[in-house]
Amino acid sequence: MPLKILILGGTTEAGLLARRLADRADIEAVLSLAGRTRSPAPQALPTRIGGFGGVEGLAAYLVREGIDLLVDATHPFAARMSFSAAEAALRTKVPLVAYSRAPWMQRQGDRWLEVSDVAAAAAALATKPRRRVLLTIGRLGIAHFKAAPDHDYIMRAIDPPPDEDMPTNHRLILDRGPFDIAAEIALLQHEWIDLIVTKNAGGASTYPKIEAARVLGIEVVMVHRPVRPDVPLLDDLEAVMAWIEAHGAASRGSGTGRL
Ligand code: NAP
Repeated sequence: MPLKILILGGTTEAGLLARRLADRADIEAVLSLAGRTRSPAPQALPTRIGGFGGVEGLAAYLVREGIDLLVDATHPFAARMSFSAAEAALRTKVPLVAYSRAPWMQRQGDRWLEVSDVAAAAAALATKPRRRVLLTIGRLGIAHFKAAPDHDYIMRAIDPPPDEDMPTNHRLILDRGPFDIAAEIALLQHEWIDLIVTKNAGGASTYPKIEAARVLGIEVVMVHRPVRPDVPLLDDLEAVMAWIEAHGAASRGSGTGRL
């Protein structure tokens, strides 16, 4: 019996794991996406799209599909899904691991203002004189910046947010990482950016904007990660593969999920 794995995705890490598992004849893995991105990057595994319907829905899916192992490779800011995964895994006794990149750490030369969430980032901007702001927080929470209307916003996102969520003075740049440092420096200079707002996503693909800000001495409003459930957390693909091998040996084909 193949080992059945559900990967909760929407991240580079989930894509890496999917590629790694795709040619394993002894593993049957499915990648789950929330369906936020209009044209998600092509994936190496069969993909299901859309919410499960909370903890109950996910628990029912785990049991119905005979899932042996669950990997939460959602974005560090996707807190609801991670809490649902933790609760559903507990209820069904399906082993769960979180696979998430480590957060970025402030280095010498960085000018970070660290805030607890996106609303706090917008509140911090509301107290500042007019700036040219690069907003790279994704679409969620963008409406908070309507409360700081005096700035000029350049927003970079994969898909456009609803127009009514955007602050008055804004322009959109539609783009998807990975980005490189030379292009990020060029963008910051060309757009006369003097402040960046970002989530502490971690990982390499969007880090060049942080390096570029350091080089140019630009201030960064850095949004902290939300609290995560108490679940084993790995930030390295090899460690996740080792976890799968170790837990798979015990769970293989048992369809361990029970309600
Ligand atoms: P969230 O607040 O944790 O999740 C909201 C709801 O979306 C969940 O309750 C769940 O619906 C559904 N959902 C989330 N991830 C899912 C997945 N992988 N498969 C199926 N359903 C999923 O998450 P979010 O912040 O809206 O992010 C949505 C997705 O975008 C996540 O997959 C995340 O990895 C990705 N993403 C998020 C960010 C970010 O900054 N938040 C950045 C990049 C990528 P049900 O309760 O109905 O199951």
